[in-house]
This record gives sequence, C-alpha cells and structure tokens, in this order.
Amino acid sequence: LGESISQAIHEMSNATIVDEKVLNDCLNEIARALLQADVQFKLVRDMVSNVKKKVNLNNLAAGLNKRKIIEKAIVNELCEMLDTGKPFFTPQKGKTNVVMFVGLQGSGKTTTCTKYAYYHQKKGWRPALVCADTFRAGAFDQLKQNATKAKIPYYGSHLESDPVKIAVEGVERFKKENHDLIIVDTSGRHKQEAALFEEMRQVFEATKPDLVIFVMDSSIGQAAFDQAQAFKQSVSVGAVVVTKMDGHAKGGGALIVAATKSPVIFIGTGEHMDQFEVFDAKQFILRLLGKGDLSGLLDKIEAVDMDQQAELLQQLYHKENITFGLYQYILKMGYQVCNVTSHLPFLLGKSKELAPEGQEKEILAKNKRYIIMMDSMTNEELNCSNPKLINGSRIMRIARGAGCPVGEVMEMLKKYKDIANELSVRLRNMKKQNPRRSDG
Ligand code: GDP
Ligand code: MG
Repeated sequence: LGESISQAIHEMSNATIVDEKVLNDCLNEIARALLQADVQFKLVRDMVSNVKKKVNLNNLAAGLNKRKIIEKAIVNELCEMLDTGKPFFTPQKGKTNVVMFVGLQGSGKTTTCTKYAYYHQKKGWRPALVCADTFRAGAFDQLKQNATKAKIPYYGSHLESDPVKIAVEGVERFKKENHDLIIVDTSGRHKQEAALFEEMRQVFEATKPDLVIFVMDSSIGQAAFDQAQAFKQSVSVGAVVVTKMDGHAKGGGALIVAATKSPVIFIGTGEHMDQFEVFDAKQFILRLLGKGDLSGLLDKIEAVDMDQQAELLQQLYHKENITFGLYQYILKMGYQVCNVTSHLPFLLGKSKELAPEGQEKEILAKNKRYIIMMDSMTNEELNCSNPKLINGSRIMRIARGAGCPVGEVMEMLKKYKDIANELSVRLRNMKKQNPRRSDG
C-alpha cells in the first residue's frame, strides 16, 4: 500500500508540468491503492476531495513548488485518516489500572505487554504482568523471561489451565501489592474463532479491565480491517498497537485499522524491549511512504520543511518557557530532518557554534540519546522548565530508564539549559521587534 502511494506521488513529481490532469492521475492512483487495501470508500472519497480543495492549482502563486504542496496535502490528509479524534483511556497515576492485551497468535501480544510495561516503568510507574495464556505451551515461560529481564513482577502458572482463574488471581494479587499498572496477557489462536473470543470475553468480564489493547501485526495488510472489526465486536477495544513495523510491509495495515476508528497508540519496531514508540501519525505516514526513515537519517537531508518550522516557531512564540517536552520536540524534529541548529537558523543564529561542521554525526547521535533520556521523564518533568526539579534521585531514575550513565543525563540537563536560555533571549527579542506577530 505504502509503495503504491509513494509510486503515485513519485510519478506526479516527475511530470514535467504539474497540471489538473497530473494531480487527478496521482489522486486516482492513490485512491485505487487505498480501496484495494479495503479502506472504506467514504474515507477515500473524503481524502481525495480534501486534497483537491486544499490544492487549488490555478491559485498557487508562481514560484511555489507545486509538487511539494501536493505531496504535503496528501500526507496531511493521510494523517487525518489516522487521526480518529476519539479520546481514549490513558492509565491514571495514583489508581490501579488494568490493561488487557488481545490479538491473534503471533501478533506480538506477549512481547508488546512487556514493552508496554517497560515503557511505563521507565516513567516511574509500578507495572506488573499477568499471563492468562494457558492455551499455548511455553507462554508463561516466555512472559517470565521477558519480565525477568525488565525486572517487572509477573504472575502465572504452569499447572492451572483456566485462564480466567489465573487472570483474576494475578490481578487481585497485584492490586493488593499496590501496582498501578496491571497488564493481562491473553492467548491468541491462529484464526478468529469462537473459542478465542469466548475466552477473551470471560477474562474481560472477570478482570474488568480499564483498557483493552488490540495488538496487530502490521504485515497482515488487507486482513487487518476484518480482524480489527471482529475483535472490536467481541470486546470493547480502546486502543491498538501495531507491531513489526520494522518488517517489509511497513504497516499499511495500520492505515486500514484507522478505518475502524480505533486509535493507534504505540508501534513495535523490533523484537527488543525498547523497540517501541509512541505512535505519531505524521511520522507513521512518512515512514509508510518510505520517507523519514530515522535510521537513514543523514541520507535524507531534505529541503527545510517550512511548515514544520512555522509550526515550531508558533509553538515557541506562545510559550513563556521552554519546557523539557518542547526541547525534546525540537530535538525530535531536528533529528528527523537533519539537525535542529542548521534548520532553525532564524532562531539559533549561532548554529555554526552549536553544530560545527564535521560534527553533525556526533551531534545527531547525542540528540538521539537525549531524546531517549527524555522518554524516561515523567509528564511532570516534561512539563517543567526548571532543571533544578530534576534532582539526584530523578537523574538516577532517568539514567536507569534510558540505560545511560548519570553523567550523560547531567550533560543533557546542561545542554537543555543552554538551548532554553538561548531560545528565550531570541524569542524575547523577536517579540520586541514584532509584538503583534501571532502566526509563523
Ligand atoms: P503473541 O503470540 O501474540 O504473544 O506474540 P509474541 O509476543 O510471542 O510474538 C511473536 C513473534 O513476533 C516473536 O518472535 C516476537 O519476537 C516477534 N515480534 C513481536 N513484536 C515484534 C516487532 O515489533 N518487530 C519484530 N521484528 N518482531 C516482533
Ligand atoms: Mg503470547
């Protein structure tokens, strides 16, 4: 699916003149690919008409890059498709949250359970894992092994064959032990069969989870829609995790799942515990289209994305303080495109000093590590702009979470301070010069 869409965009980009016909051909091609992948007709129709509405070829000022504008409109509309807009449950700190994972066998449930637990543990949660898969031999051992590696408490049994009993026992035990995130792994079957759904419903009734997460293998493509629908009809699926995004299929399936209007919250990008990312629609679409692959970063130094710059500038302009979250966003953006200092020359005049030539690679690697460190920060920490809040014990927690030395976290804090100061000064000057400015 991703390939057909990028191919269509590519053809449009290669046309000598971009006119109505070229645009229509491109959109038809994309629509065909989406329909073939079972995306609902209405979604496809809306997507096409929205792109046409936004790209009015006749009114485009001369000198603007039409191809880029069309491409951007298409990417934006695909993002819209993924944006289900439906608020979903997020675990609340300070209470007990029970989260149940469902999905077909081999989709990556057990792996994802541990990743989810590990992700939250790094942010200061107290997760625990319950293995309610009594169907597959070795299921408990697998969970045990994963949990032990991540130092997460687990519950399960080799002898008991009733998944409902185990699920209830595990959840009760961890509730008593005051765990705030109790994760229930369930069994899957190869096919969507009545027995699977019945067992799932029973575990659901017995443990009354706050959230059910449907785990989907991204490579299944077209079958994704039916599968997601079937699961949704059996239990109330609140969120989706798409796994194996590192594989060939690049997750066209997620686009299809979007058609079921279930919000995707995370993606799995490998077998390891930390190969797990918060889902970001835009990044996802770019990856689906074969762009913005984070690993091939240096090869992808694309033209400066003016939209992103404007968006960032606007965000910055309305912020009194540069929080850690914003700092991470800046780094992520820079990390995605190239490096932030060379892409925001209007903000960081001293870009040469901050990113001396020849050191871009090291700086990018560092930024990447800083981003990972901030992934281990709690929301309170991300929303603050006072490095003093990050005291010794917090620094240790972040270092543990990110798997890096304490000294490196301190270095990140220092860097944050420098950049935040620099940005604040520049923003103040900008506001003085142009007090009424309200957009990018
Ligand atoms: P379950 O049957 O749904 O519990 O699935 P498992 O968690 O046992 O995963 C099945 C296989 O998929 C295992 O070999 C995992 O290592 C692998 N796997 C899970 N998630 C990912 C992922 O994001 N990327 C890759 N490459 N493999 C994954
Ligand atoms: Mg499993």
